[in-house]
Amino acid sequence: MKWGKRPYYALKVYLEKRFGFPVKRIALDAGFTCPNRDGKLSRGGCVYCGEEGARASYVQPELSPREQLLSRMRFWEKRGFRGGYIAYFQAYTNTYGEQQRLRALYDSVLVPGVVGVFIGTRPDCLDDGVLEVLTYLAQKTWVTVEVGVQSTHDPTLALLHRGHKASDSREALRRLREAHVERLVHVIGGLPGETQEIFLKTIADVQEWGCEAIKFHHLFVERNTLLEKWYHEEKIVLLSREEYIMWLVEALVRLDPEIVIHRLFGDCEKDRLVAPLWTLEKAKNVALVEQFMGFRDLWQGKYR
Ligand code: SF4
Repeated sequence: MKWGKRPYYALKVYLEKRFGFPVKRIALDAGFTCPNRDGKLSRGGCVYCGEEGARASYVQPELSPREQLLSRMRFWEKRGFRGGYIAYFQAYTNTYGEQQRLRALYDSVLVPGVVGVFIGTRPDCLDDGVLEVLTYLAQKTWVTVEVGVQSTHDPTLALLHRGHKASDSREALRRLREAHVERLVHVIGGLPGETQEIFLKTIADVQEWGCEAIKFHHLFVERNTLLEKWYHEEKIVLLSREEYIMWLVEALVRLDPEIVIHRLFGDCEKDRLVAPLWTLEKAKNVALVEQFMGFRDLWQGKYR
């Protein structure tokens, strides 16, 4: 098989091919907020967004991003890891700041051992000043911008209180391409009111608009979110694991085999998760997808 034992182009395979050694992502919290939380667009945030804005549990936000990175690199080195690292600006909207601040911040994590920088953001937070900084950074290291597309169906985006439209995502992907920055799109399967057809339209749209990588998430409910309230009021129905896997596989078989898959499922800490509880069975979830694809003789791009 083209990607080792996997029926899809997993990030791990891509990193080994690109660098020839193992590479770990280290999530960072640079103290950003988000225009959908600080009042610029809204104060409520997206309906599914938890209080930590998708921050990984090991992150120590009281430290500077550089200290967070060095501390986690030491953690892995003490455990015998010998490889490279990606500084991953994950929590909240990591391009939501002044040009000077962004440049200094991104520069601060370019320490020996770091082979790339990933930057998570919203599609409407990529103005000319930000793109200038990203272009500058891309001359120094490998840069990937993770764009929170979620869906390309405008009624869904409105329901989620995203505060942007699908056209913003299309424009963001076009502008990032012009800036020579790699594009990772973040999409969610099982959003309220969406059918499999709408989900697959999102996958077709992001491929048409252009991206080098995709991160799939299933919809899960996190504590202290509006989505939690809707869930308890039975206003939303979550996909079962089997349903999500069917949707995911239908997306994978239609996907360009050159697109790198960063994730197949959403990830949530146990103490923050309301439902579905199968979210926590990370290894089993991935194994089920691979088994299903193997059993049916399917692979990424088979029906493209
Ligand atoms: S854009 Fe991101 S950080 Fe902001 S509210 Fe939505 S999910 Fe949370």
